[in-house]
Amino acid sequence: MTSSPSPLRPSREEAEDAIRVLLRWAGEDPSREGLLDTPARVARSYEEFFEGYEISPEDLLKRTFSEVEDYDEIVLLRDIRFESHCEHHMVPIIGRAHVAYLPRKRVVGISKLARVVDAYARRFQIQERLTSQIANTIDSVLEPYGTAVILEAGHQCMTTRGVHRPGVSMVTSRMLGVFRDNSDTRRELMAMLNRPNIGELSA
Ligand SMILES: [Zn+2]
Repeated sequence: MTSSPSPLRPSREEAEDAIRVLLRWAGEDPSREGLLDTPARVARSYEEFFEGYEISPEDLLKRTFSEVEDYDEIVLLRDIRFESHCEHHMVPIIGRAHVAYLPRKRVVGISKLARVVDAYARRFQIQERLTSQIANTIDSVLEPYGTAVILEAGHQCMTTRGVHRPGVSMVTSRMLGVFRDNSDTRRELMAMLNRPNIGELSA
């Protein structure tokens, strides 16, 4: 599941030096007491933010699916919170993913679908590619009748800089198989997405 580090990967020390350069670029003195441990903290944060590079999403699904013959309804996991980083500005993209598939013969534990989302989200991304990668991987490994992925997210490069538009979210979707070709199936998915969630029902 983990791949060996790229030979081009810099050392931890080089990464921390680069963070000191950015601190100086921002106008700071990296030797100031409050900043002494910052480069090490940022480097550790990066290991967490970008751990997706060490994970193979295909393997996550391949090793865990079960064969089922008799389930032929849509499986939908909705409101999966994800955190990613915009590859243009290196700032967070935070949103929710809705992932659906119509099984042909393979189903997978729902936690694995969330882990596939994380494996791609914890990289530098643009939302369009993130959406496609999640959908394409589920589609190619589980070989369902169809796969649908919808992401809605706020981009901090839009809210905290540039045009400064808080509250704006971007929605992207990728529909494959029956979700693309069959309007009844797509409508059924949209109805499932629009239903109040269980938390709202019991509130
Ligand atoms: Zn950006």
